[in-house]
This record gives sequence, C-alpha cells and structure tokens, in this order.
Amino acid sequence: MSTSTTPFTPLTGSCPCRTITYTLTRPPLITNCCHCHSCQVETGTAFALNMIIESRYINLTSPSPPSSSPARNSPSSPARPSSPTPILTSTPTSSTSPHLLARCPTCSHVLWSHYLSAHYGTAIAFVRAGTLDVESKGRVRPDAHIFVESKVWWVDLRGERERGVWVGEGRYRREEVWGGEALGRLGVVEREMGEGKEVVVVEGRGKEGDGEGGKTDEYSDVVDLDKPRVVW
Ligand SMILES: [Zn+2]
Ligand SMILES: [Zn+2]
Repeated sequence: MSTSTTPFTPLTGSCPCRTITYTLTRPPLITNCCHCHSCQVETGTAFALNMIIESRYINLTSPSPPSSSPARNSPSSPARPSSPTPILTSTPTSSTSPHLLARCPTCSHVLWSHYLSAHYGTAIAFVRAGTLDVESKGRVRPDAHIFVESKVWWVDLRGERERGVWVGEGRYRREEVWGGEALGRLGVVEREMGEGKEVVVVEGRGKEGDGEGGKTDEYSDVVDLDKPRVVW
C-alpha cells in the first residue's frame, strides 16, 4: 500500500470473536501475497496475504473484560482489568527458525505471525490482512506476489502484473521491491537489535503509568535476538 505523503489512516482489525482487536498505527512495510504450499496449508485457502510491519506498531485495543470486583476507592490504584493479549504458538518450518503464531486466547484464530523468529525475534510481524475490518481491508492490496510457482491454477495474476506489482517465483530481493522508507524502517529495527535492545513489544492499552504497561508477557524473551540478518 502507499507510503506516500498523504496522512496515514490507521488500519483496524480483529479475530473472529473480537476478543483481540488491534490497530496498525503505521503503514505496513510491504504487503506480500504468498502462494507457497505452506501458506496454503496454514490458511486453508489459496494464498496468504501478509502485511509486514514492526510489531511495535501493532496497538492492541482489545476491550477489557468486565470487572467482577467493586471499584476501588484509592485513586492511586484504580481497578483496571487486564485486556486480553494474543498467545504465541510455534509451528515447525523447513528452516531452523520456528514460525511463531499469535493467536486469540479465546477462539485460537491466528492474527499475525513471526517468520524467521530465530533471527528477528518477534520484532517484525506478518499481520494477516484477512483479519482487517471491512473498511481497512479495502485500503490494502498486494505489493508483491511471491512463490507463484505453486499458486493454484485458477488465480490469474495478469492484471496484477499490469498494475506493476512484482510477480515471481520464490522471493524477491528486498531492495528491488520495498520502498526506501520501508527499507529505512527495517534498518532501524536491525540497528536496535544489533544494540541488544528489546524490540519485541506489541503495544497495548495500558501504556499510561509505569512505562512497562502494554507490554505483553507472551512477547518477552521468546527467542534469542542475537542472530545475523537474513532475508525473508
Ligand atoms: Zn478470538
Ligand atoms: Zn508462504
């Protein structure tokens, strides 16, 4: 999708049961339509449509569960039931890097995932575009079609080629397809990881307060981030 000078309107989405709702506060780095066999199996359909974005720009907006306890009187410790956050599960891949899936704790639906987690941890997320709300979904379209050698025969990509979208076998070279702004943003993440900073935070509502709020425990110290750069 466009990363031009027009103001970005955040994208919103949810799992089917809406226990987990989220907002993407920056444009995706890129949106890939992947036709590989693994994506077909994992999604149960013909391809996966993944918006790649820094995890810190996923803002969890999940509604808090209703509080069962009476409101407290102390203004310094207001009652604040914790909002639900995704749980991470792992699925094996052909590489040495597990594929981590962020699932709703209620309906188990996958909202996003982290490929090559041994290298990037959970700093980069592949958000499944099908989970976007209807209005947001209408503003997202593929920037590239990858692994088309395994696409189903009835998907016709001639119109996408005419649109100027990268269509090809396997992966592309990132520098040839990503925009300059997206490459710069990824470079920021890689520099931070090189400096050993924690960059796996998915932001939540509870940001006010002690500065730790909003960090989902499931996203803490999942994997060793001290690995060399690789290409998706
Ligand atoms: Zn759900
Ligand atoms: Zn794939």
